[in-house]
Amino acid sequence: MTDVIPAPDAPRVPVRGGGRFPVHRIYCVGRNFAEHAREMGAQAPASPAARGRPVFFMKPADAVVVDGEAPYPPATADLHHEVELVVALGRDAPPGPLAVEDAPALVFGYAVGLDLTRRDLQAEAKRAGLPWDIAKGFDASAPVGELVPAAEAGDLRGRALRLSVNGVLRQQGTLDDMIWSVPEILHELSKLYRLRAGDLVFMGTPSGVAALSPGDRGRAELDGVGVLDFRIVAPQV
Ligand code: MN
Repeated sequence: MTDVIPAPDAPRVPVRGGGRFPVHRIYCVGRNFAEHAREMGAQAPASPAARGRPVFFMKPADAVVVDGEAPYPPATADLHHEVELVVALGRDAPPGPLAVEDAPALVFGYAVGLDLTRRDLQAEAKRAGLPWDIAKGFDASAPVGELVPAAEAGDLRGRALRLSVNGVLRQQGTLDDMIWSVPEILHELSKLYRLRAGDLVFMGTPSGVAALSPGDRGRAELDGVGVLDFRIVAPQV
């Protein structure tokens, strides 16, 4: 049997040291930093025992942008930046829930990325109790920097995330402030989905999210992992 249309190419993220990482799915964690949860008008959990279940949403794999150039999307007047740690999985998870202690073995590497968000559409969706898809999963909504293999990146404890726009610092936070750690998130995701090699997980953003405009240039950084220089280009018509 032959394909009746050309098969789309998997989006691919360049890897430091050579090679490309084909993307299978993009999972995202919401409200993983207390200060950001509060700036969004949500409550942060009072203790680890009160965390409940993480907030998850997805973006399509082809939302990935690897050259740093993201067009200002349609249907919004309030495009926001969210700088995040991105975790790339290099192995399929076994069937069933993945133990927290087995999760690190699945990780291929890390990058810094942007969870671009149509904040006005997200606010509408929240008010109406509707899904976030149109606010989060749009074309070119997932700029990602170069992937760094886990061994090269080393222990991520204490690392800082930072984002500046036109030379002005907008967001800064430490990965130590994540409410859910990377292994805990992989464990929680594995209860809901079969994790696969090629999956990316956006781990949530610290406070300071704000609007972007066409022509803005920015830099997202994760200490010891990498830098993503990005530009918001004119809307595509
Ligand atoms: Mn986010």
